[in-house]
Amino acid sequence: MEDFTYNGNPGRVIFGSGTISQLADEAERLAVKRVLVLSTPEQADQAEEIARHLGDRIAGLYAGATMHTPVEVTTEAMRDVEKLRADAVLSVGGGSTTGLGKAIAFRTDLPQIVVPTTYAGSEATPILGETENGRKVTKSDPRILPEVIVYDVDLTLSLPVAMSVTSGINAIAHAVEALYARQANPIVSMMAEAGITALARALPQIKTDAKDRAARADALYGAWLCGVCLGSVGMALHHKLCHTLGGMFNLPHAPMHTAVLPHAVAYNQSSAPDAMARVAKALGVDNASTGLFDLAHGLGAEMSLVALGMPADGVSDAVEEAMANAYWNPRPLERPSLEQLLSRAARGERPLDGG
Ligand code: NAD
Repeated sequence: MEDFTYNGNPGRVIFGSGTISQLADEAERLAVKRVLVLSTPEQADQAEEIARHLGDRIAGLYAGATMHTPVEVTTEAMRDVEKLRADAVLSVGGGSTTGLGKAIAFRTDLPQIVVPTTYAGSEATPILGETENGRKVTKSDPRILPEVIVYDVDLTLSLPVAMSVTSGINAIAHAVEALYARQANPIVSMMAEAGITALARALPQIKTDAKDRAARADALYGAWLCGVCLGSVGMALHHKLCHTLGGMFNLPHAPMHTAVLPHAVAYNQSSAPDAMARVAKALGVDNASTGLFDLAHGLGAEMSLVALGMPADGVSDAVEEAMANAYWNPRPLERPSLEQLLSRAARGERPLDGG
């Protein structure tokens, strides 16, 4: 066994079916009485319905959460926090809603309860990405980490199959990069492998039957494990590329991760052979990068970044931006290879074996 450092993030996790009925107990445990409920406009009704389980502890609903956590939206929500004298937030939804709850907690240190409805995994991390004047700035702080996560498998039954697939691959991306992270350690790697295994098994079953509760439970469990990976160790080339592409071209988060991941893995394949062997084993294939491509493509995901909205001539600008302030990566960043990587992803081609 090699030496390692493991940094655990404290947090309480309730997992199961029908768990939203425990929300009042969780509020009681936190000793909070005036909870501000957060959601996107699309999930306002669902959030209101779920929040009923808080009984008379609801202070109000702010249903303006949106992608990339714009500071203006947080400022508007903060007015509700103050006006309603909220002493906690309940975030119901995906990474966008969780992001708003985290932005409020960063400013106020209010406790957060999160009820996730996608596989993004943000609920398990102390990381917040906020957008101000068109720039996304990422920060990490213990105040940002949610206190309680209530995973209710029933809520994910309505997640459309296409979103389930890309959100699931987005989760797998956290685990893949955790396996070759500079701070990789045996505990997080164990979670990463289990997370990939659970999602790779569950997603095809969900494609066949979106209401398959056992598969949904597997996927949500996998998403949590992958979220823990994201919150525990540093991410590398794949996340840097997605951060860059998302910021430059405003591409949809989970579909963009899905299209980039097989190519980022191909790029790193020969520089992190042990990690890649574990990814391949978890996927049940011989090759990590083509295995990821085939999984996503086979489940109907769009694999072309251009089809997702990236300009066809955007490759070299994106590579230039990604190479500036690059994250640590197991393989040094080389412009021609990165341009080739991104060109293949732009066209939606299968990655080259071995990068
Ligand atoms: P999202 O939260 O933007 O959700 C996309 C849409 O799907 C929204 O309209 C939402 O209301 C809807 N939706 C969510 N769950 C649904 C369900 N069960 N049924 C039907 N519709 C549903 O998407 P996301 O991929 O979960 O999150 C993406 C955002 O999260 C990005 O901004 C990303 O940067 C952030 N993120 C942050 C972290 C972190 O650790 N800070 C981690 C992962 C993602």
